[in-house]
Amino acid sequence: MIEATELTKRYGERTAVDRLSFTVRPGRVTGFLGPNGAGKSTTMRLILGLDSASGGRVTVGGKAYRDLPVPLRAVGSLLDAKGVHGGRSAYHHLAGLAASNGIPRRRVDEVLDLVGLPAATARGRAKGFSLGMGQRLGIAAALIGDPEVLILDEPVNGLDTEGIRWIRELMKSLAAEGRTVFLSSHLMSEMELTADHLIVIGRGRLIADTTMRDFIETNSRAHTLVRSPEPDRLRALLESTGAQVRLDATGGWRVDGPDAATIGNLARDHGLAIHELTSMHSSLEEVYTALSQSSVEYRTENQKEAAR
Ligand code: ADP
Repeated sequence: MIEATELTKRYGERTAVDRLSFTVRPGRVTGFLGPNGAGKSTTMRLILGLDSASGGRVTVGGKAYRDLPVPLRAVGSLLDAKGVHGGRSAYHHLAGLAASNGIPRRRVDEVLDLVGLPAATARGRAKGFSLGMGQRLGIAAALIGDPEVLILDEPVNGLDTEGIRWIRELMKSLAAEGRTVFLSSHLMSEMELTADHLIVIGRGRLIADTTMRDFIETNSRAHTLVRSPEPDRLRALLESTGAQVRLDATGGWRVDGPDAATIGNLARDHGLAIHELTSMHSSLEEVYTALSQSSVEYRTENQKEAAR
């Protein structure tokens, strides 16, 4: 697992990561969320020893990255998919990684197969690769050491629908094998489908470390969608109990206040027919947007300027 304790990174006057403590556990996909400039990439670079902390510490499986005997066997990462030299073939890139980390060469064919890169493509120059193929190659490199921990920054960037679905299933299956999967994405709908747990930061600080479900339920404003063949009577009845009733985009009533059971019982008590009664939860995107508008911690300097 990944453990950060009071992790801090300053660049001159700017504190990019500010006393951040969290644990990323195995067996589930953990999403890393925060607006641009919140410190996600910096945190990932600190975990991978690509930058040194100004304070605090971060460990992978109990060790600092630089103390791992064979790092690629412990942690696989994808930070920048353009990191492959264009003149080399995907196959040689992976074979080079394997050789320098004492990983058998047959693992190259295994990971190429795993990420769906055909052998003929892998033997060609990486320069001709599409963004999607580059991303698959980056993931193959992350998996080459069969690591327990995976760290991926925006892995679905530039992928088409099929590629996005493929990454989602791959992340879930790696987590189901008991691995630790930590990934960032700015695509909220995708994150909602992929991650079981969330770590949310704003301006380098921890805002939430909780399950996806809890994050949405705690921060969302639940409401109920209700439809009746006597809409005006229903509305008057609901408003008489103090509920807020608005017209929903689909033509039903959107009710804030009483829950679905209370509304159903109320209608029954007044002999009113109900044709639909649905409890609605906000999506991750709605919760995230609402939170980022209300929380100062959340805002980047630019957003604050824009809000003024
Ligand atoms: P995110 O990945 O969440 O978009 P980053 O980790 O890239 O955020 O950046 C966090 C903050 O640190 C930003 O304000 C960014 O400008 C600053 N920052 C990141 N890397 C450097 C660097 N090498 N030098 C100076 N400032 C940096």
